[in-house]
Amino acid sequence: MTAKILDGNALGQKLRAGFRQRAEELAAQGVQPGLAVILVGDDPASQVYVRNKVNACAQAGFHSEKHIYPIDVAPQTVFDKIAELNATPQIHGILVQLPLPRHFDADAVLDAIAPEKDVDSFRAENVGALMQGQPCFIPCTPYGVMKFFEEAGIPLKGQEAVIVGRSNIVGKPMAMLLMHAGATVTVCHSQTRDLKAHCRRADILVAAVGKAKMITGEMIKPGAVVIDVGINRLPDGKLCGDVDFASAREIAAFITPVPGGVGPMTITMLLANTLQSAERAASA
Ligand code: NDP
Repeated sequence: MTAKILDGNALGQKLRAGFRQRAEELAAQGVQPGLAVILVGDDPASQVYVRNKVNACAQAGFHSEKHIYPIDVAPQTVFDKIAELNATPQIHGILVQLPLPRHFDADAVLDAIAPEKDVDSFRAENVGALMQGQPCFIPCTPYGVMKFFEEAGIPLKGQEAVIVGRSNIVGKPMAMLLMHAGATVTVCHSQTRDLKAHCRRADILVAAVGKAKMITGEMIKPGAVVIDVGINRLPDGKLCGDVDFASAREIAAFITPVPGGVGPMTITMLLANTLQSAERAASA
């Protein structure tokens, strides 16, 4: 079997075309969706992520703005900017690019974002609402993964889902969404015994670890859906996922590539959350 590719660029473009249309409808009411991105320091990967987010906003007809600070900036300067953006009606979403430098209390910074503008869904209110299945901003990466299942008509009810990785931004919210969708969920992590045995049981396997090609074809159940969240840079400079794509695609039924899989969907769902926030503000 050669797996069907779940193409994040294609699905992202399709969804973004719809967002553009909704943004035009909002513009007719005098509201343009607006996203502010805060970046501290000069980490090259973070700079690329911020640039991609700003470009995606422009393509979808959203307003966006970047606030970039040197690595040694006083945290209070960033808190003051967040307070200002919280009070700016033209801004519907605020995103602080992580990681922050060590002299920052990242939780305190994220908690300073107004809940109704927390489009990255990091605040405890959003996390709690997600857990209870209440309306909230869904964290962008797992939200994007759910869109793949929806688009490809992949059933989730009663399926065995295994997630490798338990981070707050990927693994945990992914587990919550799959559980709400009716899957039976197992979350694996660095202390899991016999990772291979868990993975081999998975109808849906989500890898979010950050270790290049650690999930190989022999760890995959024939016919599984394999979602590769990982982004790793190889010594030759190329990007790869946590899944060994070459061996996995011969076993799986569906697979996301890296690059071009989950990455573009994460940005797409950031736009979705910003749009949702703008629509809510416009109807308030
Ligand atoms: P974290 O480092 O926060 O979490 C990694 C998780 O992997 C941890 O739960 C850790 O376990 C687990 N882990 C580490 N080693 C093993 C192992 N040998 N076996 C099983 N589990 C292990 O990473 P993130 O969740 O933030 O990101 C994961 C990957 O996804 C990264 O490559 C990141 O770049 C990428 N990413 C991609 C995005 C996209 O848009 N495509 C968005 C966000 C992240 P423990 O908790 O026990 O330490």
